[in-house]
Amino acid sequence: MAKMIGADCKQCRREGCKLFLKGERCTTKKCAMERRPVIPGQHGAGRKRVTEYGTQLREKQKVKRAYGILEKQFRRYYEEAVRMKGVTGENMLSLIERRLDNVVYRMGIGSSRSECRQIVNHGQITVNGKCVNIPSYLVKVGDVIAVKENKRELEMFKQLKGMKIVMPKWLEFSSDTLEGKVLALPTRDDIDLNIKEHLIIELYSR
Ligand code: SF4
Repeated sequence: MAKMIGADCKQCRREGCKLFLKGERCTTKKCAMERRPVIPGQHGAGRKRVTEYGTQLREKQKVKRAYGILEKQFRRYYEEAVRMKGVTGENMLSLIERRLDNVVYRMGIGSSRSECRQIVNHGQITVNGKCVNIPSYLVKVGDVIAVKENKRELEMFKQLKGMKIVMPKWLEFSSDTLEGKVLALPTRDDIDLNIKEHLIIELYSR
């Protein structure tokens, strides 16, 4: 377990920003970005020159790492975004934001995206009354997301009861009923990560 903590925090240090991969720890003084905000490795602190390609690559890695997505799947979001109307970069982020594991995270059901992915994987979430155990499932407007009825007595869900959860305006969730709804599709303004998505589009358009 200790090894995993190190690996996650190294990803933040590599990207030079908080990616919030470790839940509550990320908002405490224990956060590695508070204690040692330099690139990991022997020459980390000394690395200075970054090429245009390097800047674009880092931006892509930042999003992939924050959402826990692998390259192949990430490219698929890009290709889907190209086919959609509107701004490609914004479309791509909106698609990624609609992943079920991210929605569960945004609703405050778990404290990190990786924990929420596990919750989904373990079949503890329903969409419109049916169990969905695919973290990459894309939610739609009107979808009802809930903790599966026979799992609601688990300690991790019981402790949510009565909790005030701050979430983006495109979602609603009641910590009492453990049920929520997708009110709208996420827009660029709803995504709070500091991402320059046009750099990712430039990278893929090379
Ligand atoms: Fe670790 Fe901080 Fe990144 Fe959280 S935000 S994963 S504690 S470095």
